[in-house]
Amino acid sequence: MAKKYSAEWKKIRIFAIDNKTILPMDKTLTISYQEYSSVADLPAADRELMERAIEATESSYAPYSHFNVGAALRLADGTVVCGSNQENVAYPSGLCAERTAIFAASAQRPDLRDYTALAIAGRNPEGVLCEASPCGACRQVLAEYEALQHHPLRVICLLNEGRVRVIPSIADLLPFSFAF
Ligand SMILES: [Zn+2]
Repeated sequence: MAKKYSAEWKKIRIFAIDNKTILPMDKTLTISYQEYSSVADLPAADRELMERAIEATESSYAPYSHFNVGAALRLADGTVVCGSNQENVAYPSGLCAERTAIFAASAQRPDLRDYTALAIAGRNPEGVLCEASPCGACRQVLAEYEALQHHPLRVICLLNEGRVRVIPSIADLLPFSFAF
């Protein structure tokens, strides 16, 4: 069964303009997402995508962290491009599963930079499937592709104990993302 949760974000305060103190304007951001108690409870298309992400953990190259992450990205035409984390002895040279997947998709299909959903799964050093949520850098990258396509890219994250979180849009994961 899907359960709905919401979370309140930090308030934003604006203090002074032109040396004139003004009252702060309190503003609130709210996000909504769904949580499923198991992969089996997901709608069929999301379940298949998550299964591809779980499979993709097997192609991870993670000799340093031993934390395997798989990602499966569905394009607008229904095709799926998978990625996994690829580490390197020079640590920052490696790349997360999410960016591996979306960069591969963008490079292979520049004519179709239109993505509907991204599933992400983790496998811990003990080999047990576990939670995997996009890091900040991946959120920034995903946000740019979402902005390009003018419609939401859903994110489906495996959680611990086989639960699943479905976030309707990358924008929900990265409010006030960098742009110029
Ligand atoms: Zn990342």
